[in-house]
Amino acid sequence: MKGGNVKRIAFIGLGNMGLPMSRHLVAGGFEVIGFDLSKDACAAAAASGAAIAGSAAEAAGQADVVITMLPTGQDVRAAYLGVSGLIEASRPGALLMDSSTISSTVTVEVAAAARAAGRRMIDAPVSGGTPRAHSGTLTFMVGGEPEDLADARPLLEAMGAKIFHVGASGAGHTAKLCNNMLSGICMVGTVEALALGVANGLDPAILSDIMRNSSGTNYALERYHPYPGLMENVPSANGFAGGFRSDFQLKDMRLAKELANDSKTMAALGDLACEIFAMHCRNGFAALDYSSVIKMAMAVPDAPETAPAPKTAAAPAASPAE
Ligand code: NAD
Repeated sequence: MKGGNVKRIAFIGLGNMGLPMSRHLVAGGFEVIGFDLSKDACAAAAASGAAIAGSAAEAAGQADVVITMLPTGQDVRAAYLGVSGLIEASRPGALLMDSSTISSTVTVEVAAAARAAGRRMIDAPVSGGTPRAHSGTLTFMVGGEPEDLADARPLLEAMGAKIFHVGASGAGHTAKLCNNMLSGICMVGTVEALALGVANGLDPAILSDIMRNSSGTNYALERYHPYPGLMENVPSANGFAGGFRSDFQLKDMRLAKELANDSKTMAALGDLACEIFAMHCRNGFAALDYSSVIKMAMAVPDAPETAPAPKTAAAPAASPAE
């Protein structure tokens, strides 16, 4: 199987990200055989032109490329390894690609098992969130052999706008965790600065403008404002619905923290921000967008006062963290 010859793709995990990604593959002329544990997800993929298999193994057995977009590393490990796992079920020589956000340790383990069984594997986590999954403009961070990336490139181009080859197997997931640790820290720092100003009598809109034009500027201030009513088409303008769940942000920050521990790297702010997201999730906000962490630092209006809701519920604003 070489790049241009990819015809059939098994797509396992048709959730918030996997479903729109699979739609772009169908639109790009690939034959997609999908599977998800959720019947609703399968029905939505079928309505978009994918064939649906009775199991992940059945889908993999018919495909040139197997893509997984699953919640956690445990899910990915369980899906690939073992009897009737995706490695065993896939065709000899098949290219396996995991786009979930997971630990690079799991990636390296699964990729080694794949190689031992005569399969090839790349990690290709994504950034851009559901909006860019819907628009087919995701950023891919790829770990693995250059020739395997070359084979995957037509698929990645159907789903994404930017493709980075980061390095060997696991490097894609390492880059993804570095980014999400930083964006979590930036979000917490931003809400603390806003809370400090407001507690001392400043208008959050004026303060935001000042910081955007000063050395404190960052993505949260510029394109993902956490204070309701100050920016259109972001989750804070929509009751923090959509976007990137706080418990997913916590998952990624915990993985980054593990990586920092393993590599004996300083991650003091990463650790603190991780703990803040853990508290935020324990306080009942796990399903809200991660910018809702502003509720930890200050009281904010429940509903936006000046900003309209996002244009579509299905495609909320892009998160830098995702
Ligand atoms: P999701 O929960 O919406 O979708 C996951 C899907 O996987 C669900 O439909 C679930 O039924 C299915 N599933 C779970 N185990 C399965 C199995 N064994 N076999 C088949 N299907 C199975 O999650 P999502 O938002 O699509 O995120 C998926 C991954 O992508 C996560 O690792 C997440 O961190 C990462 N990610 C998410 C975003 C985002 O904005 N949502 C952005 C970038 C990366």
